[in-house]
Amino acid sequence: MTSDLWISTRSRSEIVDITESVQQVVTASGTSEGVCHVYVPHTTAGITINENADPDVSSDLLAALDKLVPWVADYHHVEGNAAAHVKASLVGSSAVIPIHDRRLALGTWQGVFFCEFDGPRRRRVFVGILS
Ligand code: ZN
Repeated sequence: MTSDLWISTRSRSEIVDITESVQQVVTASGTSEGVCHVYVPHTTAGITINENADPDVSSDLLAALDKLVPWVADYHHVEGNAAAHVKASLVGSSAVIPIHDRRLALGTWQGVFFCEFDGPRRRRVFVGILS
């Protein structure tokens, strides 16, 4: 079973906590034990799992990626968004989370995040459930 989520971003780089939306898909599926796969079909966005208790973790991650991969540099990609492609590859385009007792088996401080690197845009995220 696969569902999709639509995420609207408001800036070039943004990290959006989608944990509750993903959990809603798991709940609606009625799956008690299985695997949840979250995948973004875009080349300038990503999916990651990290701390959702302190929002500074997300802003630190964006700042660190900006330092590592500046928007303007000696890139060849003609579209002008090479940095967004590099960041998307560094972060990765999917996450796999076990489902246990009808819940995403995330750690206490973990959340699932959509990462925008070339916004603002409207983006699609696929959530697949294997029970
Ligand atoms: Zn491009």
